[in-house]
Amino acid sequence: MATDQNKFQAIISHCKEYGFVFQSSEIYDGLSAVYDYGQNGAQLKKNIRDYWWKSMTQMHDNIVGIDAAIFMHPTTWKASGHVDGFSDPMIDNKDSKKRYRVDHLIEAHAETLDAAAGEELIAKMNALLAADDLAGLKALIEAYKIKCAVSGTVNWTDVRQFNLMFSTQLGSVTDEASEIYLRPETAQGIFVNFLNVQKTGRMKIPFGIAQIGKAFRNEIVARQFIFRMREFEQMEMQFFVRPGTQKEWFQYWKEERMKWHLSLGADPAKYKFHEHEKLAFYADAAEDIEFEFPIGFKEVEGIHSRTDHDLGRHQEFSKKKMQYFDTEINQNYIPYVIETSIGLDRMFLLTVCNAYEEEDLTKDGKEDSRVVMRFPAKLAPTKLAIFPLTKKDGLPEIAKELMDICKPHFHTFYEEKDAIGKRYRRQDAIGTPFCVTIDHQTKEDNTVTIRYRDSMEQERIPLDKVKELVLNKINE
Ligand code: ATP
Repeated sequence: MATDQNKFQAIISHCKEYGFVFQSSEIYDGLSAVYDYGQNGAQLKKNIRDYWWKSMTQMHDNIVGIDAAIFMHPTTWKASGHVDGFSDPMIDNKDSKKRYRVDHLIEAHAETLDAAAGEELIAKMNALLAADDLAGLKALIEAYKIKCAVSGTVNWTDVRQFNLMFSTQLGSVTDEASEIYLRPETAQGIFVNFLNVQKTGRMKIPFGIAQIGKAFRNEIVARQFIFRMREFEQMEMQFFVRPGTQKEWFQYWKEERMKWHLSLGADPAKYKFHEHEKLAFYADAAEDIEFEFPIGFKEVEGIHSRTDHDLGRHQEFSKKKMQYFDTEINQNYIPYVIETSIGLDRMFLLTVCNAYEEEDLTKDGKEDSRVVMRFPAKLAPTKLAIFPLTKKDGLPEIAKELMDICKPHFHTFYEEKDAIGKRYRRQDAIGTPFCVTIDHQTKEDNTVTIRYRDSMEQERIPLDKVKELVLNKINE
């Protein structure tokens, strides 16, 4: 059985081998920290996205969804603080020319020390980061004689802030062109549309605006597969509340979001909240939902109480009033905001890590094993595989008829090649929860064998009950 690091590597290989995730532009040796989703991955990602969208918008009467553009007026990013503040301290090694995120460089070194010394180093680093002491960080790297992994030298530049936003030029005429950014988060598209949505939707506080879309960050150390990417997707929701009620709403959304995660069936012990040690100056409260990946507990989602900071800043920079008139208390105010922000790709990685299992099936001394992806039925890329036992005797015709009945309702797969056992294993590897085999008995009594992915149990059920059974399971 794989150890945790090995398990993570095994999951990455599995994702490639079974059409979930490929390195971007692989034929050109790939583009670092950019990934493509294959035939099974794209479907799984869509199912996660749809599940989030439905639980946020359809299941909450007071939340609506929007789809804002990736490009936004450049002043947006001035107002949001990203132009001046969205940066990480970096250091370059003068010999290898390799650039490192200072925290990652120091953390990697801390891992090579014994536990107490490692903790001491991390504590020193955290204090310097909190104080924005760049010279102090460089002195720390020098004091510990931290080497560049490539050149093996300690020949470092000064520590500098490096902005994580990608920029490009807008307009075809160079003179008129102005620098714009690829959005580093989707949230600002919601803030700048606050008044549009509130007025046209006649929304009453408390209400939320949800959005799913791409975000871009020039992450310097992009490691750990799709955990940290340069192009990724976020699912964010800003919930606008009356000032003074934000603590209750923060609590509400913390619980609500944890319930959402647990509704997908993972062991609750694999989840925990992590309170931010250092709050942004405008924030009231901030906690992350962390999940135990094979590489340890890591953030999947952030829940933040952002006060009236963002709307206030947009009011200041745009000179447009971002106020709401609350008829219940006869008062105008800038609403406070609770934000829930989850990475779709990170949720995908969570789903894949949680589902992956190498199962030992050795029985009576006969060695056997399988890799099974135990996706919740509602997220599985393919819900049902239909197999005629043989390619003849009219069995494929019956199978295709069943396919036509099921196809409009959920994703169905048909296959007539290879032995049934092999076909089952291929479906286990992509997480298909149900397989149905059409055999000669089907012709006599209209029953089929249904085989359950998780238990591998098989039973005979009427052919005309297949669609209903699968639908019930995916809607559970
Ligand atoms: P981290 O500390 O991991 O860099 P963050 O605190 O900067 O994340 P937020 O800005 O709060 O993250 O973004 C919200 C969510 O977006 C994160 O919880 C994560 O799921 C996702 N996310 C952020 N950056 C990336 C990335 N580079 N690749 C994939 N997902 C990301």
